[in-house]
Amino acid sequence: MSVYAHKEFDDHQQIAFFNDRQSGLRAIIAVHNTNLGPALGGCRMWPYSYEEDAIKDVLRLSRGMTYKSAIANLKLGGGKAVIIGDPRTEKSDALLYAMGDFIEGLGGRYITAEDSGTSVTDILKMGERTSYVSGVDKASDHGGDPSPSTAYGVFISLREAVAYKMQRPDLKGLKVAIQGLGNVGYRLAEYLHEAGALLYVTDIVQASVDRAVRELDAIAVTGDEIFSLDVDVFAPCALGAAINDKTIGQLKAGIIAGAANNQLATVDHGLQLHKKGILYTPDYVVNAGGIIDVYYQRKMLEPEYSAQNYASDLATKVEEIGDTLKEIFERSAAENIPTFMVADRVAEERFNKTDLVRQPIKSDAPAATQSYSKSV
Ligand code: NAD
Repeated sequence: MSVYAHKEFDDHQQIAFFNDRQSGLRAIIAVHNTNLGPALGGCRMWPYSYEEDAIKDVLRLSRGMTYKSAIANLKLGGGKAVIIGDPRTEKSDALLYAMGDFIEGLGGRYITAEDSGTSVTDILKMGERTSYVSGVDKASDHGGDPSPSTAYGVFISLREAVAYKMQRPDLKGLKVAIQGLGNVGYRLAEYLHEAGALLYVTDIVQASVDRAVRELDAIAVTGDEIFSLDVDVFAPCALGAAINDKTIGQLKAGIIAGAANNQLATVDHGLQLHKKGILYTPDYVVNAGGIIDVYYQRKMLEPEYSAQNYASDLATKVEEIGDTLKEIFERSAAENIPTFMVADRVAEERFNKTDLVRQPIKSDAPAATQSYSKSV
């Protein structure tokens, strides 16, 4: 199989394969683009049945990180790591140390974080062997978990979309259907409740639904019912591909704004939303609060950068998501192009700037940190 000719290759700058016989580690790190800075993205551990699946996953995910960081105007590139193995049975300290050594060997071109199959503890272990891990849990007020920032970014996005499409200055009485009440979804529900919205919620974990009913006066709905509700906004906050062949015809909401990654099953579903006049807020624009948080947490490793700088930069940058979205909505309307395509163009304009001369990636990180990050 040729990697250069791979369907998902998309001009990746570097793809590194690692094998450590002693610990059993087999891992791939993909660095998609470092025009704007070092590549930051999570490290996934997954029992891929085929090597081909691992390669496809890492290429797709690292490309996504380039777009997410670029659209958020961060000095970061896009990268991702995958460890081939079952996180429940094949993880060991030796394997995580070997992964830390692998990351260290890239000299700062790639910075890792938590993702599916890797935990806080795992990233801390890797951090014993490399400083290129993200987040500084001690200094952030929520223990390094970027989910609250992600949720706030989604809330701002939803508000912007409502103001744009419905010309409503506030969210009082707005009907919102939320799929998934996890780390991000539940916090989003709290923000919306506080703003006076009426919530319809579903989750496969009944306790989360019960809590939302009890604490946020939410209305519980079951399973697929969430797609066909007569609401103003649908907020997918569970898994990817919520907008697919089965669900797209059921949607009555005029706006889609949620946290989940890769919400459109295919490009065609994005085109269909545009044709139907449903305002889709592109997922990686909306859910960039997490990467923004992790970026500023890492800046706190710099001696001159304080916790106050972190708090104020984080707030400003997350608020900027709303401005970016407005720009996307306006371009989408003016050029009659779906919002997800406009987002890609804006991101590409930012990381492919013709006047940009790619800088060498400095190995300037301080000693290994006590840090971690959740999936961003
Ligand atoms: P989470 O695992 O805490 O929450 C997901 C929730 O969805 C869980 O409560 C789960 O029970 C529920 N769920 C799963 N399948 C469901 C289904 N079929 N129907 C209804 N509910 C279902 O994850 P999270 O951190 O809240 O992230 C939510 C989404 O946002 C994910 O797609 C994640 O990739 C994306 N995201 C998260 C962050 C972050 O900072 N946490 C950042 C960017 C993107």
